[in-house]
Amino acid sequence: MNDERIIIHCDMDAFFAAVETLHHDLNPEIPLILGSDPQGGRGRGIVSTCNYAARKYGIHSAMPISEAWRRCPGAPHGTGLYMISTRGLYRRASRKVMEILAKYADKFEQASIDEAYLDVTDYVKNDWDKALALARQLQSEIKEKLQLGSSFGIGPTRIVAKMGSEENKPAGIHITRPEQVMEFFTQRACRAVPGIGPASATRLAECGIETMDEAYSMGELALGRAISERSAKWMIRVVEGRTSNEVSPLRSRKSIGKEHTFSKDTTDVELILKRLEMLIERVFERMKKMQICARLVEVKIRYKGFETHTVHRSIPVAMDEISVFRRLANRLFAESYEQQRAVRLVGFRVGQLDMQASKQTILFNEEE
Ligand SMILES: [Mg+2]
Repeated sequence: MNDERIIIHCDMDAFFAAVETLHHDLNPEIPLILGSDPQGGRGRGIVSTCNYAARKYGIHSAMPISEAWRRCPGAPHGTGLYMISTRGLYRRASRKVMEILAKYADKFEQASIDEAYLDVTDYVKNDWDKALALARQLQSEIKEKLQLGSSFGIGPTRIVAKMGSEENKPAGIHITRPEQVMEFFTQRACRAVPGIGPASATRLAECGIETMDEAYSMGELALGRAISERSAKWMIRVVEGRTSNEVSPLRSRKSIGKEHTFSKDTTDVELILKRLEMLIERVFERMKKMQICARLVEVKIRYKGFETHTVHRSIPVAMDEISVFRRLANRLFAESYEQQRAVRLVGFRVGQLDMQASKQTILFNEEE
C-alpha cells in the first residue's frame, strides 16, 4: 500500500469551560458547571458542560442539573460554581482555533466545534519527527494566541490519531508511528476503541475477549463467530492500521434525518430530549433497513421565532450502533441548547453514509 498518510487529530481541552474561565477570569481549580439554573438543587434542566475540576465529581454534559448539584453543591454550602453559558463565545473562539490549525494542513476537516483532523503528509514531507514538531508548535501557538489548552494525536489512521489525542489529556501529545500501531492496541480495552460500541464490547467480553490484541490473535474467522464477520474484519484492520486515513471537508449531501415540531413552543428539556430520542430511533430503523452506517451526527434546534441552530460532530469511523449516536446527540444537544429558551422544533440527522456490508457478509449475519 502506497497511500500512507500522517494524520493529526486535535481536540481542545474542556473547551467550553476553558473559554468561560478565560472570559470571566475564573480559577480553573474551582468546579465550573455550565447549564440551566440549578435552583438550589431543585432545577429541572441539564448540564451543558463542565471543567476538569467538576469532572472529578463525576459530572458530565447532559446530566440532570439536580444530580450535578447533589455531587457538588454550589453556594452557600458547596464549592461548585454554576453558570449559564455565554452566547456566541464558543463559536468565536472555535473559529480562531480552526484558523490556526487549517494553515498547516494539506487537507483539513473540522469534526466539531472543538475538534479537527489534519492531513499533514505533504506539509511535513512524510517525516514523522516533523509531524511531532508541528503538533508541538500548534499546541503552543493556540496557547500563546488564545490561552486555550489542546491535545494532539498523530497516527496513520483517523482512529489512531483520535485515540492518541485522548491519551495524555489535558495538554497531551501522543504519536503512534505506523510500526507502533500493533503495540498501541496491545492490552487496549476493546470498548476504548471508537467504533466498538457498548453492545459489541459486551458481546466480545462474553466470549472472553477484553483487549484488542486478544481479539487480533483469535484471527478473523474465530472472531467472526463471536461478533459479525464484518465487525471482525474491521477490528483486524484497526489493529493493522488499515482503517480510514481520509480527511475531507464534510460536505456530503447524502443523509437521513427526521424532525419534530412541537404543537406548542416548549422549555421542558425532558420533553425535548424524549422527542429527540424518538427521532434517533426512527432514523436508526431506516439505517438498519438500508444497511448503512454513518460518520456524521447532527442535531438541529429551532427556537421560538424561527432562529435555527445546527451542530454536528463527525466520528473517526462510520458505524451503526445506536447507543453511540444517542450519547453523541445528547451531548450535542446539551452543549448547544440555550437554557430556558422556548424550542419550536428539534431534529436529528446522520450523514457521511457508508454501505454496511457486502452481499457475502449479509449471508452470515443471522445474529443481527
Ligand atoms: Mg474537547
